[in-house]
Amino acid sequence: MNKDSIKIFCPATIANISCGFDVLGLALSAIGDEMVIKKVRNPGLSITKISGLDLPKEIHKNVAGVAGLAFMEASEYKGGFEIEIYKKIKAGSGIGSSAASAAGAVWGMNYLLDSPFSQHQLVQFAMAGEKLASGVAHADNVAPAIYGGFTLVRSTEPLDVIPIHVPKELYASIIHPHIEIKTSDSRKILKTSISLADGIKQWGNVGALVAGLYQEDYGLISRSLVDHIVEPIRSILIPGFDEVKHEALGAGALGCGISGSGPSIFALSKGLKTAQKVTQAMSKVFENMDLSYDPYVSKINTKGIQIMTL
Ligand code: ADP
Repeated sequence: MNKDSIKIFCPATIANISCGFDVLGLALSAIGDEMVIKKVRNPGLSITKISGLDLPKEIHKNVAGVAGLAFMEASEYKGGFEIEIYKKIKAGSGIGSSAASAAGAVWGMNYLLDSPFSQHQLVQFAMAGEKLASGVAHADNVAPAIYGGFTLVRSTEPLDVIPIHVPKELYASIIHPHIEIKTSDSRKILKTSISLADGIKQWGNVGALVAGLYQEDYGLISRSLVDHIVEPIRSILIPGFDEVKHEALGAGALGCGISGSGPSIFALSKGLKTAQKVTQAMSKVFENMDLSYDPYVSKINTKGIQIMTL
């Protein structure tokens, strides 16, 4: 096999998952970017091609470049890399567009060098890229992109990522309404302190959701997919949110909430058929509002980033 060049699928991800603000995330299989990473003799890193989105090729302005540089600084490799990015995940959609590029860059480079770094270290490099995108070196999207499945980021300093079991019949629905919400705006409106009563409800749900995932107890998963802290505030920025959620639950979803900082809305369901029904029900709300959107139905991606044939 030619190990000088690799083409990879870099999954979209859902962060927060209702009760797990800034700590929980999961990887999707139905949507993701593609990247080609090449090993070249000349030292340094360059982004040679970007398609699908208008993004800067300068390495200090692109999350793939920033994450890649963090990787190269820690590596003993003396040569260079070239990166091509084929964007399928729209920036600012709330399904980890920047995370896919940051995670993909470092995963691909690591593979081409025969994996000198662990998944844990790759998440740390990718977090440097996330800092460029949102000002915060968060890991709730890059961790599931690299590990696959569900992940819990217990702490970022020091980094502590816990991969979580994925129930076999779990599927995700995503609806991305074509409206723009700035991540900075959706962070700004959040309160910086919460009541003890809300905290109790929230950590009860996070603990129960993790238990429900391990036990494949869909009833418990459903009861735990509740957000008492962020969703009541952030959902105001997404037109039709309450109705979409109502329709998703009515169609049989286990739970429904904001994906990352929005505007995408996600739902989790047991079984593909229910997930398809839920996606249709959610889509209908935006159709009635005359708002354009992208719908996706996806299995939970337990592998994370994957090699594609060149
Ligand atoms: P979301 O997760 O809400 O979809 P992101 O976290 O992906 O949003 O943030 C997108 C921001 O990151 C945009 O401002 C975009 O210009 C910037 N950015 C820089 N490099 C990239 C890249 N390679 N892919 C996607 N976004 C990038």
